[in-house]
Amino acid sequence: MAEQASIPRDALAGLPSVDRLLQSQPVAALCAQFGRPLVLEQLRKRLNQQRRAVREGEAPAVWSDADFATDCMQAIERLLSPSQRPVFNLTGTVLHTNLGRAPLPQTAIEAVVSISSGASSLEFDLETGRRGDRDAHVEDWLCRLTGAEAATVVNNNAAAVFLMLNTLALRKDVPVSRGELVEIGGAFRVPDIMARAGCRLREVGTTNRTHLRDFEQAITPRTAMLLKVHTSNYAIQGFTKAVPERDLADLAHAHALPFVIDLGSGTLVDLRQFGLPHEPTPAEALANGADLLSFSGDKLLGGPQAGLIVGRADLIARIKRNPLKRALRTDKMTLAALEAVLRLYADPDSLGEHLPALRLLTRPISDIHTQAQRLAPRLQEALQDLASVSVMGCQSQIGSGSLPVDLLPSACLAIRPVGRSRGRALSHLAKKLRELAMPVIGRVQDDMLLLDLRCLERAMEERFLEQLSILKARITPP
Ligand SMILES: *Cc1c(COP(=O)(O)O)cnc(C)c1O
Repeated sequence: MAEQASIPRDALAGLPSVDRLLQSQPVAALCAQFGRPLVLEQLRKRLNQQRRAVREGEAPAVWSDADFATDCMQAIERLLSPSQRPVFNLTGTVLHTNLGRAPLPQTAIEAVVSISSGASSLEFDLETGRRGDRDAHVEDWLCRLTGAEAATVVNNNAAAVFLMLNTLALRKDVPVSRGELVEIGGAFRVPDIMARAGCRLREVGTTNRTHLRDFEQAITPRTAMLLKVHTSNYAIQGFTKAVPERDLADLAHAHALPFVIDLGSGTLVDLRQFGLPHEPTPAEALANGADLLSFSGDKLLGGPQAGLIVGRADLIARIKRNPLKRALRTDKMTLAALEAVLRLYADPDSLGEHLPALRLLTRPISDIHTQAQRLAPRLQEALQDLASVSVMGCQSQIGSGSLPVDLLPSACLAIRPVGRSRGRALSHLAKKLRELAMPVIGRVQDDMLLLDLRCLERAMEERFLEQLSILKARITPP
């Protein structure tokens, strides 16, 4: 017993102390490069691991000071590399929520860099020299582009919906059609948001059909507003009925109630002029009698994450007075980017060229197809005989719950692993693509890995190709 216990104790005594390691030349050099706290943290971690191993009966590791330094350096370099990284979105979903939705135009990126580099006139009126309003930087543009009287901005559309409800319907009833009690991407569920905003949901109608009389019967003295939610990410087909916006607006106004719409995506132009399916615009909703409506900044609008609220000036003023507006307000970088994006809408004719989200959505299929044929042999060369690569027609999605049933014809590189256990080979390949310096994210479908090229713009093609030789070296069995 005594002998057994003494072995680890001797071995533990053989491990170096942190203090001695810190004084050694290689570790001291590491401290000079990365700072002492990170080096200390990593040294302790390694020494603890070694002590634990010895206590569990393993032979003590024989590490030189340089071994400690090298191991710590690798860990520190991993720690210091950014966690959020640019990726190639070849999923075929253009506005992919998990991949950051809309890519920003260059002018917006420059605005963010310039505004975030120093002090700015965020809440400072340069004309009067007095305190200003941060919404002022975008309010004029939003009003011009939607026809609204006033506008305000918060962090995202979920916050916008929450704030509209909390401001106008606290402790009151809000009738909503059962067909519009939707869940939008993970955490946004209309009934939950309503409950948290402090208002009572009055369900109206049925899942597939809701009539004007259903709303009429639901209105009581406790009703605060009529709410319409754009069912962004699903469509009900068949025997359906929804009440037209105009009728709901008339009903609301007859009872002196505001008519409010959560528009979801909301684009500022008629997408039909770009050959895309029609998506309701704020201007149309306001023309139909909406008093207040909200939409996202980073969906079809193609800007930064934001929630835009536009409508009647008195209602916007009430929203701005809600203390929660302060909690949900956007930062200067978002406002800088949003302002730059809204300015692009001044000239709809050049929008398809300058707004990346729209440029990707309207990329001609012939262009994507030619690119696929150009890239297929290069990818095949990298994958060698592990998989076969072919050019295939496919369908892109707009994403972010926009126009869910409308797909865009596109072209992809279809990767089919050859040989046995193809399922495993497929996930292995997908992993290797994710491990590249700029990860490549595709989608798995019918035992193939599809790389939809819609979002691989010409400017990024070279970067994509450069990585193929690295991929080849990494998947080649030694
Ligand atoms: C996307 C969406 C939301 C949530 O918007 P975020 O900007 O993602 O917060 C809310 N309502 C509808 C109808 C939507 O489509």
